[in-house]
Amino acid sequence: MDKKVRVRFAPSPTGPLHMGGVRTALYNYLFAKKHGGDFILRIEDTDQTRYVPGAEEYIIESLKWCNLIPDEGVGFGGEYGPYRQSERKETGMYRTYAEQLVENGYAYYAFDTPEELEQMRENLKKAGVAAPQYNAVTRNSMKNSLTLSAEEVKSRIENGDPYVIRIKMPRNEEVKFKDLIRGWVVVNSNNLDDKVIFKADGMPTYHLANVVDDYSMKITHVIRGEEWLPSGPLHVLLYKYLGWEEEMPQFAHLPLILKPDGNGKLSKRDGDRLGFPVFPLEWKDPKSGEISSGYREKGYFPEAFVNMLALLGWNPGTEQELFTLDELVQAFSLERVGKSGAKFDPDKTRWFNQQYLRKKSNEELAELFIPELEKAGIDVAKFDKEYIAKVCGLMKERATFVREMLEGIYLFKAPENYDEKTIRKKWKENTPEIIKSLREKLAAIDDFSSENIEKTFKAYLEENNLGFGAVLPNLRVLITGVGMGPSLFEICALLGKDETLKRIDTGLEKLAA
Ligand code: GLU
Repeated sequence: MDKKVRVRFAPSPTGPLHMGGVRTALYNYLFAKKHGGDFILRIEDTDQTRYVPGAEEYIIESLKWCNLIPDEGVGFGGEYGPYRQSERKETGMYRTYAEQLVENGYAYYAFDTPEELEQMRENLKKAGVAAPQYNAVTRNSMKNSLTLSAEEVKSRIENGDPYVIRIKMPRNEEVKFKDLIRGWVVVNSNNLDDKVIFKADGMPTYHLANVVDDYSMKITHVIRGEEWLPSGPLHVLLYKYLGWEEEMPQFAHLPLILKPDGNGKLSKRDGDRLGFPVFPLEWKDPKSGEISSGYREKGYFPEAFVNMLALLGWNPGTEQELFTLDELVQAFSLERVGKSGAKFDPDKTRWFNQQYLRKKSNEELAELFIPELEKAGIDVAKFDKEYIAKVCGLMKERATFVREMLEGIYLFKAPENYDEKTIRKKWKENTPEIIKSLREKLAAIDDFSSENIEKTFKAYLEENNLGFGAVLPNLRVLITGVGMGPSLFEICALLGKDETLKRIDTGLEKLAA
C-alpha cells in the first residue's frame, strides 16, 4: 500500500452502540494498526431527527472501554477536523459540493411537496409498480430543475421555496466496485433511485456527507457493516461525479452478526429474550428510562469481549482462540473475514471471560475482587492483600466472572446458616461424635498446611474405617456453610487453625441446638 492507511469508524449518534458496531470499530482499528495507519472516529449526525442525547458520549466511552483508542476524531483531536458532521456542515462544504454536482449535470433541484411525492407513489402503485421510486423515469413528471424552466427554478430558490438536491442516476449503466471481502459488486443503475443528497433543512444526507468526508479526511479503506452494501454503487458514482475517482477508498462490507440460532440479524430483543447483553455498556434510554444491560456491567473483561468479537466474522486460519489486542493486530487481515453471517454464541462469550479470568494473576484479581467484597458488606481492611489474592487463586477455577468468586465469601466471614440439603442427606446421629474426634486430630497439627490437613484427614478416615462421603460434606458445611466448593483442605489452611476449629465448635453447637 503506497498511501498511509486511514480508516474511520463513523457511527450515527442515534442510540447505544450495538456490539456489531463495536466489531466494525474493532476491525477498522485492527486494519489500521496492522498497516501502521490511522483510526478515526467520525460522528455522522446529519439526521437531526434521530439524534439521541448521550449517544455520542456512550460511543466514545465504549471505544475507550474496549481500548480501541482513535488517533483522531471527536474527543480525540486531529488535523482533519471537525469530526462531527453537524460542525462540518457549518463550513458550507456539503452545499458547495452538492451545487457543483448540479452545475455539472449530475444532480438536480427537486421542489416536490410531501403531498406530491405521496401522489406519485400512489399513482404508480395503482399502475402496478410494487416499489415506486423517484428515478430516471418518474423524475420527468415531477417538479424539479429538469422539468421546470430555468427562470422558474431560479425564482423558486430566490423565494425560499423548500427544495432538496437529488442525484441524477444515469440510465442503464453498470456501476461496479471491488469489495475486499465480497469481490466484484455490479449493479445496473436502472435499479437505483435518485436519492436525495442534500435536504431542505440545509443538511446533506448520509450519502453525500459520507463521501465528502471520506474524501476530505483522506480515508483509504471503508470498512463497514453489510447494511451499507446497497449504498456502495451510489457512493461510487458520487466519487466519479465529484471527480475523485482516483482517491476513492477501497470498500469492505462486513458480514452480519446473527442470532445464536442463525435465524436473522442479532437484535436487542434477542438479548433481552435470551439473557445476554447486546451493548458494550449499560444504556439508559433518555426518553423511556428503560435500561439495557451492558457487557461491562455484567462483569465481562473488555479483553474477553474484544477477543470474542474479533472471531465473530474473522478467523485466524489456525486453532488459536485467545488473542491479546496486539496479537489480533498482527494476525488480522480482511481476506480472512467471511462473507456470510457469523452466529453469536453467548456460551462461547462466557467461555472467553472465564479464560481471561484464569489468565489474570491472583494479585490482579484481588484488586478487582475487593470492590465486590465491599459491596457484599465485607470489611476488607481486616484482610491483607496477600490473603485476598490467595482466596482468588482458590476460587478462580470455579468462576467465570469476578463477582462469582463471592461464592467463597465464607473465607471472609463465618457461616450463619448451614446448607440444609447437605444436613438432611449427610448428617447422621454419630456425626457430632466423628467430627469431634476429627477435630482433636486437626488441633494437633503443627504446620496447618493443606497437605498436612489432608494427610491427617485421610489417616483419620482409615483408622476409623470411614468413607469420604460420611465426613467431608459435614465438615465442609460446618466450616463454610455450603455444600460445595474448592478443596476443603485449602480452605482450612487459608482460614488457619484457630478459625477452623472455632467454626467446627460453633457449627456443632448450632446444629445440636
Ligand atoms: N453513519 C453510518 C452508520 O451509522 C456509517 C456507515 C459508514 O461507515 O459508511 O453506520
